[in-house]
Amino acid sequence: MSINPFFPPRPIPDTPPNSDRCRCPKCPTSPGQPSFFCARGEPSKTISKKDCLCHQCAIFQEFKLNIYFDEAYFCETGKIA
Ligand code: SF4
Repeated sequence: MSINPFFPPRPIPDTPPNSDRCRCPKCPTSPGQPSFFCARGEPSKTISKKDCLCHQCAIFQEFKLNIYFDEAYFCETGKIA
């Protein structure tokens, strides 16, 4: 999905309350890795995609990331804004 440059996604603030809601630690795609990829970046070098949990995440819903991303896998693509 392309991102409209006039209506880009808001950056996700890297705060403890936000990072505490990240689902990545329980994700089968990136078990045991650092998380909160949508805010922090640091994508992994190689992932094997398995049922990304981002769509079930409160951050994904609060920041309306569904408008921009059909798939999430921020562990592969990194920070969103
Ligand atoms: S949208 Fe994905 S990367 Fe961002 S906080 Fe939620 S689970 Fe983590």
